[in-house]
Amino acid sequence: MIQDDFMIDPLIQKAYKILNGKDFDKDFFKELSKLKGEDILDLVSLANRVKNRFAKETHVCTIMNAKSGICKEDCRFCAQSSHHKTDAETYRLCSKEEILGKAKETYKSGVSSFGIVTSGTGYMKINDEFREITEAIDSIYKLYPDKNVCASLGNLSEENAKELAKHKVAHYNINIQTNPKKYNQLISTTHDVDQRIETIKHLKNYGVKICSGGIIGIGETMDDRIEMAFALKELDVDVIPLNVLIPVEGTPLENQKDIPVAEIAKTFAIYRLIHPSKTIKFAAGRETKMKDFQGLLMLAGANGFITGWYLTTRGRNVKDDMLFNNELSLFR
Ligand code: SF4
Repeated sequence: MIQDDFMIDPLIQKAYKILNGKDFDKDFFKELSKLKGEDILDLVSLANRVKNRFAKETHVCTIMNAKSGICKEDCRFCAQSSHHKTDAETYRLCSKEEILGKAKETYKSGVSSFGIVTSGTGYMKINDEFREITEAIDSIYKLYPDKNVCASLGNLSEENAKELAKHKVAHYNINIQTNPKKYNQLISTTHDVDQRIETIKHLKNYGVKICSGGIIGIGETMDDRIEMAFALKELDVDVIPLNVLIPVEGTPLENQKDIPVAEIAKTFAIYRLIHPSKTIKFAAGRETKMKDFQGLLMLAGANGFITGWYLTTRGRNVKDDMLFNNELSLFR
């Protein structure tokens, strides 16, 4: 006879129904998120099973910061905001040739999705800079018609969204970042989350797949993370990238305390249980914040990651990440 203390927590036992397609509401996940200690590992194990059942394939991508800094928004975590004094590089949009060169490098390394990222509020009309970007996308597809070109260019008007769809952007990244109700408090006072949500809707209307997630470790609560997960569910996004804050000197969050690895793992596991079949990517913070526990996150429900460079910080090299990915397949 096994003592009750040794059994899996009843809430987790209930959550196993997700494997049979059951959905739970926000309140259930808020309760589940209170679990601590060794129960987190049971939650991780369930998240891994859910991933293996509904989202087995691993997605890896590389991004290029094609325009850096000089942004008029004041996102509290961001090294590229002109409101903060940081050492982040600043440069205008890279040339088409430079963007194509980076895409070639990415595909040669075995990664099949390449994302063009630009700093700034976004593009509300089709100007010369936006044209440069769509021409760069065309030149990549001309050489690599079977690969993916993604973009993250900030807010878009309907016209710009339609144009990107015409140029076959595989996924468009625009993060809602946090609990939408606290966007102005936790992220930025210079713009609202509504504009981001509007951009997602425009793109979806034209059939572009959406990559949207956020950042954790910026002073939000676990409930805020769950609110964000449900907001993403309502928007029916395709890929969810989760970043863990890397505090940058000169930003308002430079002294923000790290959240424990166990809490990060719990957050990923809960995201997998809320989004059984979506691609959940571990974005920035994987190497710096998880250290010895990087693999744990991939077993806690993540089925994708960004390899190589992030926007203003270096990640692990692509070759090591590919080996890492092969090892992970043994847990499927
Ligand atoms: S996150 Fe984007 S919009 Fe916000 S400050 Fe950084 S570059 Fe600007």
